[in-house]
Amino acid sequence: MHEYSVMKQLVSALLDELEDKNVKKVKEIRIEIGELTFLGEQQLKFAHEVLSKDNILEGSELNVKVNDAKVRCNNCGYEGGVSYSNDPGFHFNIPVISCPECGEKPEVIQGKETMITGVTAEEVD
Ligand SMILES: [Zn+2]
Repeated sequence: MHEYSVMKQLVSALLDELEDKNVKKVKEIRIEIGELTFLGEQQLKFAHEVLSKDNILEGSELNVKVNDAKVRCNNCGYEGGVSYSNDPGFHFNIPVISCPECGEKPEVIQGKETMITGVTAEEVD
């Protein structure tokens, strides 16, 4: 499961980050994922639940924000959302991204990110 390995990386990065801080319990984790990561929110939440067992993340809430993909076309100068070509293999392959204006392959400027944007934690007294 793709989501599980992504979440595992995020969780271990977070635990590393919080290791030398006086955190008793994490209440909320906010992450942002790009539309082009094709990660499922429910699967991420499930993975988060599994991975936060027996550590300071246990019982925390995971908030997922999905960022729309944004591209820039060097051919015609278009900048904005993406269109996907009608590939019948869409569900099995990474879809082909093309410029909605001219059909060339644009440069992706947003939509592939996976990042932790905030954590609400309770400090040890
Ligand atoms: Zn274009």
